[in-house]
Amino acid sequence: MKEQILNEFKNGERISANGFAVSTKDSKFEPYSFTRHSVGENDILIEILFAGICHSDIHSAKSEWAPGIYPMVPGHEIAGVVIAVGKNVSKFKVGDYAGVGCMVNSCGECDSCKKNQEQFCKNAVFTYNCQDHYHANEPTYGGYSNNIVVNEKFAVTVPKDAPLDKVAPLLCAGITTYSPIRFSGVKKGDKVAVAGFGGLGVMAVKYALSFGAEVSVFARNDKKKQEAEMLGVKRLYTDTKGVDERFDFIISTIPTKYNINAYVNLLRFGGELAIVGLPPTDANMQISVANLVFSGGRKVYGSLIGGMKETQEMLDYSLKHKIYPETEIIKSNQIDMAYENLLTGKAKFRYVIDMKA
Ligand code: NDP
Ligand code: ZN
Repeated sequence: MKEQILNEFKNGERISANGFAVSTKDSKFEPYSFTRHSVGENDILIEILFAGICHSDIHSAKSEWAPGIYPMVPGHEIAGVVIAVGKNVSKFKVGDYAGVGCMVNSCGECDSCKKNQEQFCKNAVFTYNCQDHYHANEPTYGGYSNNIVVNEKFAVTVPKDAPLDKVAPLLCAGITTYSPIRFSGVKKGDKVAVAGFGGLGVMAVKYALSFGAEVSVFARNDKKKQEAEMLGVKRLYTDTKGVDERFDFIISTIPTKYNINAYVNLLRFGGELAIVGLPPTDANMQISVANLVFSGGRKVYGSLIGGMKETQEMLDYSLKHKIYPETEIIKSNQIDMAYENLLTGKAKFRYVIDMKA
């Protein structure tokens, strides 16, 4: 297969790919062969070695946010090795490690792009379940596959000694938690709470601790109490009711319907709540204006992944401080099982697919 792909690259042809797709919102994963656009002058071709499973993949595959584009190959936590480069590529050479997150392109000219916030570019192309208007509106296919073609600007450089299976989830779970923690300036001595202790939550805990904060966790139950203690979490709460401490910063990673106002009320005056968890649209989540006014001086904002500059910064910081996700490696025929476990509370933190297995 690799030889065939390299021939396609040399001939400027479309690149053959094998992945795993759902064909409707209720389907199971099936092997799916497709092609990707040819490797352009600024593109790199990555052989994917590991792909993390994010809860966003589940929301997308099940059309929980909006009708999905099917067949859908999810996956936006991608780590692999560069096997070909376009002629203008300067950041990568063949044999380098590379990572790809939630985006594969943007306009590069608008205000958001100029501010290194490409995720808010009106023309951003997301890694899967998106129409690529830079390539004749073809659908994008994600990381549950053996390769990807991406503009070099949207790939991060990964050093050769990095553990690629651990790098993959940093590309979404890492940046999505690192970014608001930096934006809010979490610092030594701050009291931080992390709501939802899964793939994103555990990364938020690790980053907040690394900046010197005292960290508590809000989970549905205490099944991961031991893991929390081992990480150095101060308290694990299973309910927002009756909690009398107040926090400087709260990050919510909860993917299901919950009472957001309860978390607003747990902020101290001037404290900040960053929302990253995005429950299904039909959960109809509402923040109470009256509660905001009467609780006064609490700041609430949403946050979407992070720009490419900050993604590279996050990766460098994580590797330097050995901040890695908690992962369980699975084979590509276990994706359905992983989804099921994530939905029924049987999963620990992050499943990562070994694309060679
Ligand atoms: P996971 O499924 O790995 O983790 C979610 C965790 O939240 C689980 O531990 C779950 O517990 C817990 N949980 C569920 N309901 C509650 C509740 N009511 N109170 C407390 N904890 C609860 O998901 P991810 O970490 O991968 O993703 C989380 C959310 O973040 C998703 O909605 C995802 O789409 C979103 N996301 C947003 C991004 C952004 O840029 N804003 C980027 C990436 C993801 P249990 O195990 O018991 O079910
Ligand atoms: Zn994600």
